[in-house]
Amino acid sequence: MNTKTTPLTKLYDEKKQFLGVLLSPEFWEEAKSVIQPLLDKQDEAQESEAPEPIGDWKMLLDYWDFQYPPDTRVECEACGNTTEDWTKPEGKTFRLKAANLGGLVNFQCMNCRARVIKRHFKDHYRFECHPYAPAKVKP
Ligand SMILES: [Zn+2]
Repeated sequence: MNTKTTPLTKLYDEKKQFLGVLLSPEFWEEAKSVIQPLLDKQDEAQESEAPEPIGDWKMLLDYWDFQYPPDTRVECEACGNTTEDWTKPEGKTFRLKAANLGGLVNFQCMNCRARVIKRHFKDHYRFECHPYAPAKVKP
């Protein structure tokens, strides 16, 4: 077995399909300052392009069994951004990121990028705000 570390190893599957590359730790140390910003940019592009999972929200509405009617208010504790109706274009200061039947609805504040979770309980809901923290380069 070859124990010498090569900076870059190309990986193939059994059908000789090119899967990607493996970087040696040493090479990664040198390359990450160049590569990480590109990865961050990809993340951002994906975030802004991913369609909102409106189907999941509609499903939650269809199966709504909380003791109050659904509302579309969202507020961000981090920057004070609020909207009475995130589904309307003029209220588009939040993006829906996820919704599930358990009553967890996730938004991203378009103002400060905080993650806002609207957590529905039987007889009330509350907001949880997680201020945006950029992904750190792992050492
Ligand atoms: Zn905010």
